[in-house]
Amino acid sequence: MNVQPDLEFIKTLKQAGGDTMKKCYQCATCSVACPLSTDDKPFPRKEMIWSQWGMKENLIADPDVFLCHQCGDCTEMCPRGAKPGEVLGAIRSYAYTFYGWPSGLAKLCTSAKNLPILIGIPAVIILIMWFLSGAMHIPSSEEFASHGYQQFFGHWDFKWYAKNIFFIVAFMVPAAGIAAFSAFMGVRKMWKSMSDNASLNTEFKPSIKQFATDFLWPSIVETVQHGRFKECTVNTDRVKGHLPLMFAFIGLFIVTCWSLLKNDVLGLFWTSLHAPMSLIDPFKIVANISAIALLYGIWVLWKSRTDMEKRGKASKTFYDWFLIWEILAVGVTGLGAELLRWAGLPALGYIVYYLHLVSVMMLFLYMPYTKFAHIVFRTTAMCFEKYRESAFAK
Ligand code: SF4
Ligand code: SF4
Repeated sequence: MNVQPDLEFIKTLKQAGGDTMKKCYQCATCSVACPLSTDDKPFPRKEMIWSQWGMKENLIADPDVFLCHQCGDCTEMCPRGAKPGEVLGAIRSYAYTFYGWPSGLAKLCTSAKNLPILIGIPAVIILIMWFLSGAMHIPSSEEFASHGYQQFFGHWDFKWYAKNIFFIVAFMVPAAGIAAFSAFMGVRKMWKSMSDNASLNTEFKPSIKQFATDFLWPSIVETVQHGRFKECTVNTDRVKGHLPLMFAFIGLFIVTCWSLLKNDVLGLFWTSLHAPMSLIDPFKIVANISAIALLYGIWVLWKSRTDMEKRGKASKTFYDWFLIWEILAVGVTGLGAELLRWAGLPALGYIVYYLHLVSVMMLFLYMPYTKFAHIVFRTTAMCFEKYRESAFAK
């Protein structure tokens, strides 16, 4: 075999947390230690040598790279301190940039040096929207007590559609749309690379319904249940943080959908629905519980990551910390804005609410290029794993 190492790729991996990969001497202890590795398709030993050899094409088309939960069992057992779990994390971070669209935005998300731009993009867009709304103001205590943040972007007399909703939808929906389109393009490209690499039979293809019921739905259920994640034996705290975080996102997603339905559809007929939710509204209760679960989950992950780094079992990388900071910012500003509303502090409340909008937009916009992307890419890899074993592929 004639190996043509991609030196630039090796350099990128080293910078992204894979700096220990050259220590690997191929003993395969990691493949034995990994709770997800199977006898017929073991990993991560082979990924370690592919990384050393700079075999980019093999690695970004390798579903095992995306199946890894970065639990650290292999890293704990590696006799050479090669940190295979971290190397796989670095490969995933490279893959998210590689599959990301538009590539300029994907590249921006790879370095802490770009943080001012990453924060600046949503910060400026929302500031411009606030300016264009003609409602750049700090409300009086009375206004704040009665409307909360419902009139952040002002108020108009057109009772069928609230001005605030109009402006929030105007920047959040395109941000979510770009992220969804980018994730779709990335998943498509990744599936093709994995299929080509595995030389699957393409003669027989399932119908969309068959694909959804036989491969996609079981993978989604597996992701939600965290079955494989629970197999981790060393860093068990991660699953304790990951689960509440996932349920928090599901809860907040339900509340956001209800909010859109309430304001944009039902609100057209019952205009009173445009008022702020009361504290005993079931959706408000779900939102508050989700916010607490979000903060608890991210605190556990923060602690677990810091602990791993202190023990020398994980590398300090922008890829890992950016998502933790982003989620923390969403939780702290969201809960902070609500507490400030109860405390009746309009100026501080409006500033924190603005920061909340910025952090939520960052989470949406950068989803396909950050660690958050594992939601779609890991689910795709699980789906591919089931598909390649099926009669269709064989
Ligand atoms: S990463 Fe460590 S455990 Fe795995 S093969 Fe290399 S030296 Fe062995
Ligand atoms: S980090 Fe965990 S899941 Fe990933 S390869 Fe190592 S042992 Fe397996």
